[in-house]
Amino acid sequence: MERVYNFAAGPSTMPVEALETAAREMLSFGESGMSVMEMSHRSKAYQEIFSETEALVRDLMHIPESYAVLFLQGGATGQFAAVAMNLLTGSGKADYVDTGVFAHNALVEAGKYGTARTVASSREEGYRRIPALSREMFDPEADYCYITTNNTIYGTRYSQIPDTGAVPLVADMSSNILSQPYDVEKFGAIFAGAQKNIGPAGFALVVVRRDLLGRQMACTPQILNWKLMDEKGSMLNTPPTYAIYMAGLCMKWLKKQGGVEGIYPVNCEKAQILYDYLDQSKLFKAVADKDSRSIMNVTFRTGNEDLDAEFVKAATKQGLVSLKGHRSTGGMRASIYNAMPIEGVRALRDFMNKFEMEH
Ligand SMILES: *Cc1c(COP(=O)(O)O)cnc(C)c1O
Repeated sequence: MERVYNFAAGPSTMPVEALETAAREMLSFGESGMSVMEMSHRSKAYQEIFSETEALVRDLMHIPESYAVLFLQGGATGQFAAVAMNLLTGSGKADYVDTGVFAHNALVEAGKYGTARTVASSREEGYRRIPALSREMFDPEADYCYITTNNTIYGTRYSQIPDTGAVPLVADMSSNILSQPYDVEKFGAIFAGAQKNIGPAGFALVVVRRDLLGRQMACTPQILNWKLMDEKGSMLNTPPTYAIYMAGLCMKWLKKQGGVEGIYPVNCEKAQILYDYLDQSKLFKAVADKDSRSIMNVTFRTGNEDLDAEFVKAATKQGLVSLKGHRSTGGMRASIYNAMPIEGVRALRDFMNKFEMEH
């Protein structure tokens, strides 16, 4: 079976080169005589894989030594609680920007542990845009301010990182980490579920400024305790060893593409191909407001649910799969993460054009 162009939002397409390497190394990693899946996480061979993966994350994101890098379980959703448990212990207040269901869920989760205030929200507008933000809107006493840099379901992204003054900024970057350069030092903490732009599902990557470690609530579970996990090198217990290895292979591929700086213009070009087409189309319409458009998740619709369904079905037959929008929004969504080749995006654009001609 030939490979399809997979536009799934996550788990999502991965670089073929990484998958091929994994296949080659499946039965014996190097001279070990065993699969990475079969290795003790404490073995020398695995420790090397782990250290190399962490070094790749640091290198690709330019993470200074003053930040800890953690590989934790429970996905991005686990971190919704972890953020509050590790940071909401000063004034007990945090500011959240509500730009989607994930942002909203994070806010609700934090509310169990303290006061989570909604600074701004685009909920009433179906999360079509990122609300305008200014420094005065944020509470200077807050323990942290929280944003979701890219909103996977709605196809929106912050074009600018808000200025929160001295209050640490926490960002859920699950769906656009490693897609564009970010200055890590603008953030107190960054986290991301791995299954969108890092590698396979299985862990959340957490990058946290070390001076923020040690503020956790006494009730924080060990596996969500950032300070403890940092002390234990993310190996308090068994980490998701294979997922971390696969993420390393994906990041080696990214490094060969020129790293984040190299892939960013390609990502912009990919998104532009679709938005340019959508902006002139008489059949399809882009959903997100222009100034809030994501370069990772492109949402669009015809305005007719039956026609949307027909399009998704016809595209699938052409090997353009997983274009159905999130169940809460309907319509279509093309997730075009780093590993989606530009040829796949062109093929989608051409197919949309053909579909439009026929309808
Ligand atoms: C997918 C996603 C999540 C949830 O990730 P899990 O790892 O499944 O918990 C959270 N936030 C954003 C922005 C996402 O895209």
